[in-house]
Amino acid sequence: MKLLVTGGAGYIGSVVAALLIEAGHEVVVLDDLSVGHADAVPQAARFVQGTLREKAADVLGEGGFDAVLHFAAKSQVGESVRLPALYWDRNLGESLALFEAMRGHGVRKIVFSSTAATYGEPEQVPIPEDAPTRPTSPYGQTKLAIDGVLTEFARLYGFGAVSLRYFNVAGAHGRFGERHDPETHLIPNVLRVPSGAVPHVSVFGDDYATPDGTCVRDYIHVVDLGDAHLLALGAAEPGTHRIYNLGSGSGYSVQEVIDVCREVTGHPIPAVVAPRRPGDPAVLVASSAKIQDELGWKPERDLRAMVRDAWEFAK
Ligand code: UDP
Repeated sequence: MKLLVTGGAGYIGSVVAALLIEAGHEVVVLDDLSVGHADAVPQAARFVQGTLREKAADVLGEGGFDAVLHFAAKSQVGESVRLPALYWDRNLGESLALFEAMRGHGVRKIVFSSTAATYGEPEQVPIPEDAPTRPTSPYGQTKLAIDGVLTEFARLYGFGAVSLRYFNVAGAHGRFGERHDPETHLIPNVLRVPSGAVPHVSVFGDDYATPDGTCVRDYIHVVDLGDAHLLALGAAEPGTHRIYNLGSGSGYSVQEVIDVCREVTGHPIPAVVAPRRPGDPAVLVASSAKIQDELGWKPERDLRAMVRDAWEFAK
C-alpha cells in the first residue's frame, strides 16, 4: 500500500513508519518537526516537512494513497493545561485539515493515534472501550473530539477509521526510539540515571492505594503497538469507525519498573520519593479484549524487553 504517515518524525510515528516499510509498504512522512527529528524518519520513506494545514492536500493530491496513519499531535498533558487553545488548534484544527484533504482526494482509510487520556479517571479497571469518556485534560479532550469527528466522517463520507487508544508505550525498535525534550515519561527518565545524565530518578508519590504505594500503569512495547497498526489498516472498513484499546491488561508499579531497569542495566539507580504529580490516577490498565477478539492482536513483548530495547537505544 501507499501510506501517508503524519508525525513520522516522532517516537511512535517513526517506529510505525519503519515497521510499515519492513512490511513492504511505500511510506510518505509528513511532519513539521515541531517536536520530531528529521533523522528519525526512516531513510526509505519520502519526507515532506510542513503542517497538515500547509501540506496534507498537496501530498494527497499526488494520488495513489491507500490510507493515512495519523500520529501528528501535541501530546503533553501538563502543557495542554497551560496552553489549551494551542492544543485545540494543533490537534483538532490540523486533524480537520487532514480529514478534509483526505475527503477531497478520495482517501478514506485512516488509523488514528488516540489515547487512554480520553477516559480520564477510571471507574473500573481494566478499562473497556465502552467506559465513560471524561478526559481530565485539554489533551485528552482534543483526542476525544477527533475520535468524534472520525465517527461522523465514517457515517457521512464513508471513511473507514480505526482509533487506537494507547496506554503507556515504551521500548524502541533499533535506531527508532524515544527522544522527547523535556522527557516526562517514566522509563526514559529512569534510564537517564545509568546514562549518567542525572543522579537519581524521582518517584512521584508513594502513598497511592496500590500494593507498593506507587502508581500502576499498563506498558506496551512500541513494536507490539506497530503490529496493531498493521492489523488496524486491514480492518478499516468503509462507513465504520472502530475504537480499540492497546494495553496488556495488566500493570506494573513505578517501583517495579525501576527494579526492572536496575536488573537490565546493572546500575543501582537511586530513587527519591517526590510529591505526587497533579492529575495522576493511581491505576490505569486497559482491557484489550476487544482487539484480541476482533483482530487477533496480543502483546508479545514484556516489560523486560521494553526496558532492554529502550536501554540499547539510550546507549
Ligand atoms: N513517573 C515518575 N517519575 C518520573 C516520570 C513518571 O514517578 O520521572 C510516574 C508518573 O507519575 C506515573 C508513571 O510514572 O505514575 C507513568 O508516567 P508517564 O509520564 O510515563 O506516563 P503517563 O501514565 O503519565 O501517561
